[in-house]
Formats: sequence, C-alpha cells, structure tokens
Amino acid sequence: MIEKTEHTDSSSSASSPVAVFCDFDGTISLQDVGNRLFHHFSDGKSDDPVAKWLSDQIDSRQCLIEEAAVMREVTEADLHDFIDRFEIDRAFPAFVDFCRTRKWPLYILSDGLDVYIDRLLKRHGLAGLPVFSNRAVVENGRLRLDWPWIDNECDRCANCKGFQIRRLRTPGQTAVYIGDGKSDLCALPEADMILAKGFLADHCRQNGIDFVPFNDFAEITDILKDSPLTLR
Ligand SMILES: [Mg+2]
Ligand SMILES: [Zn+2]
Repeated sequence: MIEKTEHTDSSSSASSPVAVFCDFDGTISLQDVGNRLFHHFSDGKSDDPVAKWLSDQIDSRQCLIEEAAVMREVTEADLHDFIDRFEIDRAFPAFVDFCRTRKWPLYILSDGLDVYIDRLLKRHGLAGLPVFSNRAVVENGRLRLDWPWIDNECDRCANCKGFQIRRLRTPGQTAVYIGDGKSDLCALPEADMILAKGFLADHCRQNGIDFVPFNDFAEITDILKDSPLTLR
C-alpha cells in the first residue's frame, strides 16, 4: 500500500530538476475510461462525436458536450458502479513512490473528467496526487460539465496540456511527458522528454518527434531511473 502523497508543496517542487506530467486515460488507466463511460451510457451514440473529434471537426469541449448530451439518465451510483470496473496500471503506485523518492513533482493532466479520475486514484490510495482535468457532476440524471481550464488560448482542448506544462513547470526544470493519445498533442512541444505509446507513439514516429516507447509504468520507472536527462 502506497502512502497518500502530497506533491503540491511548491517549495520542494520548484527546486526539483525534473517535473513529470502524465496523461490519465489509457496511460495510468489501462483503458480509456471516459470513452468507455460515454459509450456505455449512450449505447454507442457517443462514438459519433468522438469520430468528429478524431478528424478535427470539433474541439474536445464540444466533443464532451455532445457525448454527455446523448447519455441516458444516470445516477451517481450508476456511474460509480461502472467506474469501479476499471483498473490502473499495476506499476503506477510504485512509479508515484519513485517520483516521491526523487522529489519530482508528478502532475496528472487530463482532457477527460474528474468524476472517474478521482474515484480510480482514490481506490488505489493515490487521492493526494495533483490532477488537472475538466469536471463533471451528476445533476437530475444528467452529467453537468464544468471547464475550469477552458481559458487557455487553445482551440483544440478544453484542458490544454501544453498550457498546463507552461503554467506548472519552473524555469530550467526538465519536463517529462507520458501519454498515449490525441489529447496529448499540445504537450509535445513543451516536453524535454516524451514517453509515448499507441496513437501518440505513431504520431511521434510519423512526424519525426523524438520519443521513448513504453508499455507500462514498470518500464517507465526503469527508463527514468537511468536517463541522462533526469540525472542532473
Ligand atoms: Mg490517453
Ligand atoms: Zn491544446
């Protein structure tokens, strides 16, 4: 059992040579929980807005609005029951510990929703991690969405990961980014080291962007332990 950790102490975070930024869906969680949740509670109708988002016809905020709009009525308990079926990467808690040992701040950046991120992290004893995401609450059977980070000068994201890295990293800090998907694209130009799998790895390969491939957090821990970028 990993102790609940608090990485928001700005004095120790600011002096750390490295900051780690990490996607949630499909990276920390084994599946894209947000995508599965909307798919499940809309009987597949959410696939249409997702296809439009994937082909750049709508931004991520519009996508989430349209996904929520086609959901059937739900209670908070319905959502919790569904969310509780999902697992996170088995080695992620040990990775959190590794970052804590090195005194590296670890930030979770998601263009998904706090409603499942917070619940999944809490179930794994990781409720103290700083998470920056969009928000959702169940209200009268509907999912009410809220956008705390919408004012980010990005026309692609509701919670832009590039904006978050620029905001959170301190001068001179090496930014490590870990992700797997389309919502991670804005993070790429801000990161000094990119760890990627899936769509994001393909994107980096196709566009000549340097990255390190990974399959899970056990590999990530091994990679970062010995990386010259993080040993200064
Ligand atoms: Mg992802
Ligand atoms: Zn963006």
